[in-house]
Amino acid sequence: MNDRAGRTDEAGPVIVSACLLGVRCRYDGAHSEDRPLRESLRDLPAVAICPEELGGLPTPRPAAQLIDGEGDDVWSGSARVVRVHDGEDVTKEFKRGAHRVLEAALESSAQRAILKEGSPSCGSSHVMREGIRVRGRGVTTALLLENGVVVEAAG
Ligand code: SF4
Repeated sequence: MNDRAGRTDEAGPVIVSACLLGVRCRYDGAHSEDRPLRESLRDLPAVAICPEELGGLPTPRPAAQLIDGEGDDVWSGSARVVRVHDGEDVTKEFKRGAHRVLEAALESSAQRAILKEGSPSCGSSHVMREGIRVRGRGVTTALLLENGVVVEAAG
């Protein structure tokens, strides 16, 4: 059992990226199901969330990426999230979705979250920025961490 799976044995509600549980909420209409993760969460109250859908974006939707920084920089106002193909700014939707996820964590008393690695919303050690995968965390991850929610990476 790896470290991540070990920690999912902890009791208590946990916020989980919905795409990891098999929900087709990715930008391309697909999912990123992680079956071992699903198994490990079977007896825990898991709250499935997709911050980009919660922010009002459709599925499927154009791919988006961070520019000028990472998730923390979005909250400080020095970075943005834009659609890859036309540069349209979707920062407002990403921030709205992150706030919805934080609300869900507070309402469910979840103190930890398991989020999809690499996403501009859910990434916790890598994100897509200006067309390349770089170290950094996503917009939702940054907000959860700022508010004391432990974030683990999956996928
Ligand atoms: S990585 Fe996060 S924002 Fe992207 S589809 Fe999964 S839950 Fe939604």
